[in-house]
Amino acid sequence: MPTLNLKPGIVTGNALCELLDFCKAEQCALPAVNVIGSHTANAAIEAARQAKAPIIIQFSQGGAQFNAGKFLDNSKQAASIAGSVAGAHHVRAIAEAYGVPVVLHTDHCARKLLPWIDGVLDAGEAYYRTTGVPLYSSHMLDLSEDPLHENLETCAKYLERMANIEMTLEIELGVTGGEEDGVDQSDLDSSKLYTQPADVLAAYDKLSPIGSFTVAASFGNTHGVYAPGNVKLTPLILKNSQEHIRIKRETEEKPVHFVFHGGSGSTPAEIREAVSYGVVKMNIDTDTQWAFLAPIKKYMDEKDAYLKSQLGNPEGADKPNKKHIDPRAWLHAGEKGIVARLVKAFDDLGALGKFGG
Ligand SMILES: [Zn+2]
Repeated sequence: MPTLNLKPGIVTGNALCELLDFCKAEQCALPAVNVIGSHTANAAIEAARQAKAPIIIQFSQGGAQFNAGKFLDNSKQAASIAGSVAGAHHVRAIAEAYGVPVVLHTDHCARKLLPWIDGVLDAGEAYYRTTGVPLYSSHMLDLSEDPLHENLETCAKYLERMANIEMTLEIELGVTGGEEDGVDQSDLDSSKLYTQPADVLAAYDKLSPIGSFTVAASFGNTHGVYAPGNVKLTPLILKNSQEHIRIKRETEEKPVHFVFHGGSGSTPAEIREAVSYGVVKMNIDTDTQWAFLAPIKKYMDEKDAYLKSQLGNPEGADKPNKKHIDPRAWLHAGEKGIVARLVKAFDDLGALGKFGG
């Protein structure tokens, strides 16, 4: 059993490798939450504090752009880079204040978005030179639409750069269905939605000599929440891939750390099965978006008569509505919604009580 020496703040380097090994050995996984600014990030950190477990916080390219403000020009990824850097500093400071270990990550980066990760890595290398730790724990490259060898060639090049500053790389093999961050894969041929064990072996052979990596494999998982029945979730693909590598390369059990994209809407039984095959990270975005919105909508509905104007409500024509209008009132309701949903995610992922809580 690997031992853990986790400190509050951003988990990087060997500490991250040990954390991923621990999750695999203990058959639990961590929720990876897409945040878009300080409110969602703070809520994710509070959820981890309540669950007494580390959490993975990630910015997508669009989420990072939003964090910088959608007013800023993003033609050369300037806004996404600035938003990623600012978000990293915010998360680091607040995680330390809350006493929570956080794995800080960036989500899908397609080939055309590589200038975004190039810019964040430039900032990460500069941060490493002055502090001895990288700005981010890990980045994801999603080149799953490219031919396999091109995907892996580029990933190997980036992993070499990232390993120098003690970072982990997440790659994608096979395409996650559905729609997220403006990328719509919902019309894709369903054969592309399933990763082949031989592809995972090729990734293992290419990347394991270079550094630490995780694999987002496709086993029928989709971004977004849909009525059941469109795509069949087949976690056995993960098990078969692990076995394929173990036999071909005579490795230990479960040589690969898997990532489960599109966890929203999955049943606890499906999640448990995937985790038992080596999933250590599950992305949950759509469910947390809903968990943020639902209490805010309830607030707006219940307080409707107090939100028509700054003055005047059912208690009197000259009564002020300032305290109901204050964004802190309704934004915090949304934050609490995220916290509750994520504590449930920790439970579904078998992470409650596994980290000394
Ligand atoms: Zn994803």
